[in-house]
Amino acid sequence: MRYSETGFNLEIDLSRGNIERVETDQRLTELHLGGLGTNAKILWDRVPPETDPFSSDNLLIIGTGLLCGTPAVGANRTIVSTMSPQTLFMGYSMMGGFFAPELKYAGYDKVIFRGKSPKLIYVWINNDKVELRDASHLKGKGANETAELIRQELKDPNIHVAAIGLAGENRVFMASIEQGRSSASRQGVGAVMGDKGIKAIAVRGTKDINIARPAEYIGLCNDVLNYIKYRAEHPIMNVEPIFQGLGSPQEMKLIDEKWHTTGFMWGNARTRRKDYWTKEVEEKWRETQESVRTRLISCYNCPMKCGAIISVPGISTYMMKCYSKLTYTMAAFSNLDFGFTIAQRATDYGVDGFSTPQTMAFALELYEAGILTDQDMSGMPSDTEGRFYWLLDRIVRREGIGDILANGTYWAAKQIGKGAEEYAHNNIKKHEQLPLKLGMLNPVYFLMYCTGEKANITQIEGQFPQEPFPNKEMREEFVKDWIQVPDEKFKKYFLDWEPRGENANPHYPTPQMASEIVEWMEKMHYIDDALGVCAGLSSFPLKPPYHMHNYPAFVSAATGIDMDQAGLNQVYHRNRNLIRSINIRRGLSRADEKPPEDHWKKRFPEIEEKLLDTYYEYKGWDRNGIPKKETLHDLGLDYISEDFEQRGIIKHE
Ligand code: SF4
Repeated sequence: MRYSETGFNLEIDLSRGNIERVETDQRLTELHLGGLGTNAKILWDRVPPETDPFSSDNLLIIGTGLLCGTPAVGANRTIVSTMSPQTLFMGYSMMGGFFAPELKYAGYDKVIFRGKSPKLIYVWINNDKVELRDASHLKGKGANETAELIRQELKDPNIHVAAIGLAGENRVFMASIEQGRSSASRQGVGAVMGDKGIKAIAVRGTKDINIARPAEYIGLCNDVLNYIKYRAEHPIMNVEPIFQGLGSPQEMKLIDEKWHTTGFMWGNARTRRKDYWTKEVEEKWRETQESVRTRLISCYNCPMKCGAIISVPGISTYMMKCYSKLTYTMAAFSNLDFGFTIAQRATDYGVDGFSTPQTMAFALELYEAGILTDQDMSGMPSDTEGRFYWLLDRIVRREGIGDILANGTYWAAKQIGKGAEEYAHNNIKKHEQLPLKLGMLNPVYFLMYCTGEKANITQIEGQFPQEPFPNKEMREEFVKDWIQVPDEKFKKYFLDWEPRGENANPHYPTPQMASEIVEWMEKMHYIDDALGVCAGLSSFPLKPPYHMHNYPAFVSAATGIDMDQAGLNQVYHRNRNLIRSINIRRGLSRADEKPPEDHWKKRFPEIEEKLLDTYYEYKGWDRNGIPKKETLHDLGLDYISEDFEQRGIIKHE
């Protein structure tokens, strides 16, 4: 019997219309867990490195995490993996909501698409019955509308649907996959879905998931629930309100946006408005938010209520979560009512809420600088908000200048030329980042920005505070109940971290300490993404309920695999090196590993080189960031070094 997983994947060859239910190899679960880990193994084995993201040889994998569908709180992540048209590396994007548990209940751990459908289809997975259905009537429809039409057509309101909008159909690089309560938005996964001719995947499942040791497992789940309650009653002191609790519900509850609006950048990630937040603005924003926020909602099996149903008069209702209420607002130098209104259209088109507003602000900067001309922008309205709507419509249709902008700022700048590259200033590995510009180099963040394979800082950072606390008393208070630290040394690193002086950025944490801290942060994300647990309850917030001390017990009780901390550590290293190797094989090099030039005002090239050298060494990689033969051997990944040798990436010994 298989525990915590169904033991079956659905393999769909879109070119032939062939559907197979394929039993999976349990040994791969022991080596990689599930979700991201096994997705990566499949991509390594089956997608040669020269494969173009829009080739029919590229795979699109809709994976569920190993604990999804079990009673583990917040275990609901769908992990979408493919080769990214945006970065050209392996792309993986997560979504919460209800889709992954439903897919498991239908009897599948993953849906693996290969080939391309000759016409637009949607997939209907109803337990053992799976069909590819004509979607020509859904062409051009919004993602939310598509989900609703499919539910009506199939006469079941409980079906969960992951769909693309117009952006995905038109292979816009910033296209997302939307599923009502969440979306997989980064790295162009929606563009690959559109390229394959899939408008939507609808799923309904009514089967059970087996748990190896149910009583023990329920006990662990109850401990997590109790801890969530405790944390709700004991918010973390001495940090900004958004860091005080778990998940990310603060954004939809809180009105006080002083921290984001005065600390983050407006427009094309350049302009700080230090005095923006006033009593009047706060009152106006409160009125806006409270008038459109109908109710707060959660993902499957989670009490946190991070999302909100948004109903703006005159347009259809949609779900919003987290920082996206500010991305359009701030990119357009506008107000919150604009952010809530345009986000509805953007959600229906299915686009990433980070990259899209930044690309539009970038286009307007190019226009102001005379690099894009009236001819390029022919028909564009004169007001900024109108321009944002106009640009959004052009981008998702790939019309005129929109066809160039649809590839994001990095590729668009290359195509436009005439100095446009200077304006595409906020990318890492060809992908737009948070609009943050800071003063002093932070060693931990430098390493996370440079070396993260996800190219998205919010999905790399986590449990170590972002900055030192002002005094020793506050730091001592913080470490008192810091049970999540995998090693006591991290408490000392934090206690000794000062805002100024010798023990301050950029010299402290030292390169060695910074490497260890980064490894802890990324480890938690890699484990979450394999287990399908929401980062909001594990890797992302301070002092979360899931951590290295209780995760092995969860894995063991759920799966029956004998897992301890050392074993879980080994799985993390294996998955980290496997994904790294996929990208190395696709051309990733040290030269790609850099933050945006202007991310910090004060840069220190020597320290930065030393940080990268130390981190690579600590990871068992060579000076170019390529995993060494012995590192791969220790992780049972000799097949990777053999492949590297054959390709001349590493030398034969
Ligand atoms: S913490 Fe928030 S985002 Fe995460 S599963 Fe719960 S409701 Fe969803």
